[in-house]
Amino acid sequence: MAYRVLIAQFMHETNTFSKLKTTLDDYRRRWLIDGEEMVPRFKGTRNEVGGYIDSADKYGWTPVYAAAANATPSGALTRETWETIRDKILDAAKKAGKLDAVCLSLHGAMVTETEDDAEGALLEALRRIVGPDVPMVATLDLHANATVKMAKNANALVSFRTYPHIDGYERAVQAAALVQEALTGKKKPRCLLSQPAMLEGADHGRTTQPGEMRDLLAKADVYEKEPGINVVSIQVGFTWSDIPYTGPSIAVSHEPEAAGRAGEICRALIDEIWRRRDETLSARKNGYRSVADGIAAARAKTDKQGPLVLADGTDNPGGGGYNDTTPVLRALLDAGIRNAAVGTIYDPDTVQQAMKAGVGAEIDVELGGHTDESMGKPVKAKAVVKMLSDGVFRNDGPMNAGVESNMGPTAVLRIGGIDVVTISNRIQTIDLQTFLSQGIDPRARDVLVVKSVQHFRAAYAPIAREIVLVDSGGICSPDISRLKFRKLRRPIWPLDGVNDPYAGARA
Ligand SMILES: [Zn+2]
Repeated sequence: MAYRVLIAQFMHETNTFSKLKTTLDDYRRRWLIDGEEMVPRFKGTRNEVGGYIDSADKYGWTPVYAAAANATPSGALTRETWETIRDKILDAAKKAGKLDAVCLSLHGAMVTETEDDAEGALLEALRRIVGPDVPMVATLDLHANATVKMAKNANALVSFRTYPHIDGYERAVQAAALVQEALTGKKKPRCLLSQPAMLEGADHGRTTQPGEMRDLLAKADVYEKEPGINVVSIQVGFTWSDIPYTGPSIAVSHEPEAAGRAGEICRALIDEIWRRRDETLSARKNGYRSVADGIAAARAKTDKQGPLVLADGTDNPGGGGYNDTTPVLRALLDAGIRNAAVGTIYDPDTVQQAMKAGVGAEIDVELGGHTDESMGKPVKAKAVVKMLSDGVFRNDGPMNAGVESNMGPTAVLRIGGIDVVTISNRIQTIDLQTFLSQGIDPRARDVLVVKSVQHFRAAYAPIAREIVLVDSGGICSPDISRLKFRKLRRPIWPLDGVNDPYAGARA
């Protein structure tokens, strides 16, 4: 008889410092999909749900599709949002009758008005429904603030091994393969999690260049080949979250007899993250440059081909940025830079104004800067409406290839020599289609502005003549001394005088 396997996704990276609560409408703007509708939406895509769908086919499972929910990072989920989506998944598990396994696609840094460890609470509730012996696995983003509760209730936490995250599909396939081995009695996985007294570490997980995270992952790959060790996951944490669990952690899925070895592996990897902690600090300090540096790079004469990409990293909606700060656009206009394109500025009211005026009209705009004027005032200017659309496109990849993205009603506004993709749903710039779908060829521009800190590199590094990451004063500031933590576990490095990674550590 075919195994009955529950498949569900519930993702959010919560920036608790954001003033914007996350609502059901925010999920609907990205996706909030019930049951069987998950299949046509994700079959053939390269995300985690696509990986689970293909695995269910491969192993001949009878999948029970619960729900798939994902929203752009922002503040804590409202109680209604959390309970509504949680209950879709729990109700599907209850209605399914006997379940043989559970495969989840989670983020690991979701916070709600009522839960600091939302994924832990979800896994615990599911465990209560399915019982202690049903294999349950979850994929996580490598920026998860993973917890002991998550590990206690899951048989494996399988985190991305790339940043930009281009291996969601592969991680789901890996998690599903472990489930199949557990179902057929070959494995009895347990999960161990260990977290040091560190707020940050492992170079924020960047894998685009040789360095600490790649070194750690290479070791994790070797450990995974040992007998009794199933999965070795490295989570680097998501800093902009005022909860007790923020920071890096190691999760090892192991066989019962390898529990001691799993602990040694956690300790070895944490020791290395601790030993190399200054690399994370210096990467953060040196990674960012000023907006003025970005403008200087835009003006510099060069023989190199392709656009200069200015990454407006501190307003990255992928980290909870408001996606509407204006200092970079303002500086480009003041400098008279032409043949530039900005992807994107969130400003639904201005989009509506452009839609009323129509393509070709000239309108007076007060663009962006509406969420928090302390991060840059609206840009007052005359703008020509170049294009209007519903803002829907399909990602070319490498990240999320094949997955549909929705910027909401969208207007391309030309201000001076700059085309601004003005949108109604906050969304990180990860794909060339942000521009291509709006009639803008990114390769033909001198300057591109992207609202992203790292993910954009997967698609944009191959076309860029140069990349400059700028600090425009947005909410995702690299200066952690600006963040006011109240719930964070203490003491913690680098905020306190900690000289031992296990000071107050939880394992
Ligand atoms: Zn991430």
